[in-house]
Amino acid sequence: MAGVTLTNTTKIYPGVKNAAPAVNAINLEVKDHEFVALIGPSGCGKSTTLRMIAGLESVTSGQIHIGETLVNDLTPRARNIAMVFQNYALYPTLTNFENIAFGLRVAKMPKYKITEEVNRVARSLELDGMLDRYPRQLSGGQRQRVALGRAIVRDPQVFLLDEPLSNLDAKMRVQMRYELIELHKKLNTTTIYVTHDQIEAMTMAHRIVIMDRGVVQQIGTPTEVYTRPANTFVGSFIGTPPMNFIEGRVDIINDVPCFDNSNMRIEITKEQYDKVMENKVHSVYMGIRPENLRIVSDTDEDTRHVVKGQVHFTELIGADQNIHVNLGKRDRVIVRVPTDISVIDDEMISLRLNVNHLLFYDMNTGDLVS
Ligand code: ADP
Ligand code: MG
Repeated sequence: MAGVTLTNTTKIYPGVKNAAPAVNAINLEVKDHEFVALIGPSGCGKSTTLRMIAGLESVTSGQIHIGETLVNDLTPRARNIAMVFQNYALYPTLTNFENIAFGLRVAKMPKYKITEEVNRVARSLELDGMLDRYPRQLSGGQRQRVALGRAIVRDPQVFLLDEPLSNLDAKMRVQMRYELIELHKKLNTTTIYVTHDQIEAMTMAHRIVIMDRGVVQQIGTPTEVYTRPANTFVGSFIGTPPMNFIEGRVDIINDVPCFDNSNMRIEITKEQYDKVMENKVHSVYMGIRPENLRIVSDTDEDTRHVVKGQVHFTELIGADQNIHVNLGKRDRVIVRVPTDISVIDDEMISLRLNVNHLLFYDMNTGDLVS
């Protein structure tokens, strides 16, 4: 097994005039045994990145190393990686056994050994009993397991998976997610997993790479990218519902450091104020996650972090509900609270912001400043 290192790796597809690079100088070090997810909106360059690592797409500039080896000019086969695609890419005219065995036959492994290996992998994926059938005779989830089997059986240095669960229905997707987590625990193979589904990325990966328009926006653990998004794009992309952003200014008002706009004035900590000033910024977006707002009684005496708003509507989502609240004319926030708190549409309510979880973003660049 081996890690994967991308150094200023760039892809510009030929013949596409004036297009921005599909992947723009990505730097990423995936450690040996690590599970890393690439996530971002459609067209942000996830598949292109994976295909360059696999050798299915050439690299325009920069380097890719697998372990210590520079692989830019190596064929896919010489890289000893295995790739699993969204559409499974199984051979319809071959049995499931032959589909799994395919790479081993090409590699001229002895027949008895192939049988042994395919059976071993089929057992671990609970596919024994289905090996004589054809892919069309399986459910989507089983087909995806055959595709995984074909990847695992080759004992690759690195697994590359491109949206492998996207074609499955919601329930099967959850089950396969658990199976993939189990599989990684068992095999410990370095894995790079492309998805547009943040739940998959957050639940499976050790670290997440968030991309937008060919550029890496942030690399971090699920907790890091959730609690401290590096910019407003990441804050909006990660989290359902997304982070709330409220426009305003950071200033000292009557000797007190504050976040201020036409609807609200919130006392912030000296530390938060100083960090914003270090970055020479005044106009900011204040970022706050929906669970860091609470509904409080109007008679609450501590009003430093309380704002008033009007309930617009409520979405029930099992144990929690998302309450959409208008603050004055312009600002709207989503508050996430347990369902035992009941509010009605158009009701005026008071919200307390958890000041320790406030983040501040430069309004011009969108970057985190405090
Ligand atoms: P993702 O997998 O994140 O949805 P892709 O890596 O497939 O994104 O695509 C990144 C960008 O490169 C997109 O703008 C896409 O249109 C472009 N692109 C992808 N494949 C090709 C290709 N073969 N030729 C030209 N442009 C391509
Ligand atoms: Mg893709």
